[in-house]
Amino acid sequence: MIRKILSHIFNRDKLSASDTIAKLKIIPREKHGITHNQINPCAIKVTSTLQQAGFTAFVVGGAVRDLLLDLKPKDYDVATNATPEDIRSLFRRSRIIGRRFRLVHVMCGPETVEVSTFRGPSPDEKDSKNTNVNHTDHHGRLLRDNVFGNQEEDAIRRDFTINALFYDPNNEEIFDFLDGYQDIKEKRLRIIGCPETRYREDPVRMLRAVRLAAKLNMQIDDETAKPIGDLAPLLQNVPSARLFDEMLKLLFSGHALACVVDLRTRGLHHGLFPMLDVILEQPMGERFITIALKNTDERIKQEKTTSPGFLFATLLWHEVLTAWKKYQDTGKKPLPALDLAMNEILTIQHKNLAIPRRFDAVIKEIWTMQPRFEARLGRKPFRLLTHPSFRAAYDILLIRCESGELEKNIA
Ligand code: ATP
Ligand code: MG
Repeated sequence: MIRKILSHIFNRDKLSASDTIAKLKIIPREKHGITHNQINPCAIKVTSTLQQAGFTAFVVGGAVRDLLLDLKPKDYDVATNATPEDIRSLFRRSRIIGRRFRLVHVMCGPETVEVSTFRGPSPDEKDSKNTNVNHTDHHGRLLRDNVFGNQEEDAIRRDFTINALFYDPNNEEIFDFLDGYQDIKEKRLRIIGCPETRYREDPVRMLRAVRLAAKLNMQIDDETAKPIGDLAPLLQNVPSARLFDEMLKLLFSGHALACVVDLRTRGLHHGLFPMLDVILEQPMGERFITIALKNTDERIKQEKTTSPGFLFATLLWHEVLTAWKKYQDTGKKPLPALDLAMNEILTIQHKNLAIPRRFDAVIKEIWTMQPRFEARLGRKPFRLLTHPSFRAAYDILLIRCESGELEKNIA
């Protein structure tokens, strides 16, 4: 009996998404105000084709959220009770993708809509005695997510309540199982289910919380925020390619500065930017990074081009500078010293931050141009102007001057 009570208490502590109580609210068009002509025609075509074939289909996730906030959705997702094979057979231009999470990409014109079958809780979430297939690792991280479910279960396995709204373009109703609509109106970012369990299942959700709060100008709910600091080390178990993708999304969200500041206060930047701590602690470095991120944010708001290579070259410039000085102090000539410094810094990054090697060439090019800017006599400076990385390298030079590393007149 005591064991039973203890196990009950223990399990309550570990409430997962599948224990979440959902209560469906249907929000009519008059209340939510989204109109048909705001929706991407491709998404409408996909939902109506599925519905005509007898399936249910909804626009879901970030697109519904963004429309309610008067933002332009970046991409459209559709959720349906049709299986990937059903979907595939209804759309000529479509293909099934993904292994961990099978879904279908449907193309219309230049656009792609992601269509996924409603997901449910994995078997070991439903029944902890089922040990046939392990769906989580020993930290609780979800390894598989391919169990189909119903619409309500699909809402519950999503990350935040504001990301779990379903919009039916046909009758223009929003299906809200988790009070996401209210949270949007009150600008509250709330995770679905027990925060700790949900972060253990997928630590990237902690980064998504920070990014979405900055992007949507929302407050992270207290319960949702509380476990983040303690669970930050779990990010080390996330495959580096996924972490890298998420980091790019964050840095190019148009709110990079706010995100990085918030990551830092929550202790989430270790492992993500193993050296950001060090960099931010140098008085010059902090100013430099702040200017660089602000620049990136402004460029994105003005819809100007940005590149990961440029941003990484900028974020790491002070590290290179320190290593460069160190090699020169040991008697190396400036250029060979710079070469050694660049290789040293990039090697560290390959290991920790997992900047893929494909960025090396462009990052090195931008760094190598820095000492050349300082030689301003003769024909050399004019040759620099025609260099393909001139603009990016020059932008770093501007930041070097603005941050006080170099005299302003050099730029
Ligand atoms: P944005 O596209 O603006 O970056 P988004 O919320 O649309 O934000 P996507 O990566 O496009 O992000 O994901 C689409 C939807 O899939 C989300 O709205 C959410 O419902 C669900 N989702 C995404 N990532 C996760 C996750 N890690 N855990 C649970 N659900 C997720
Ligand atoms: Mg999206």
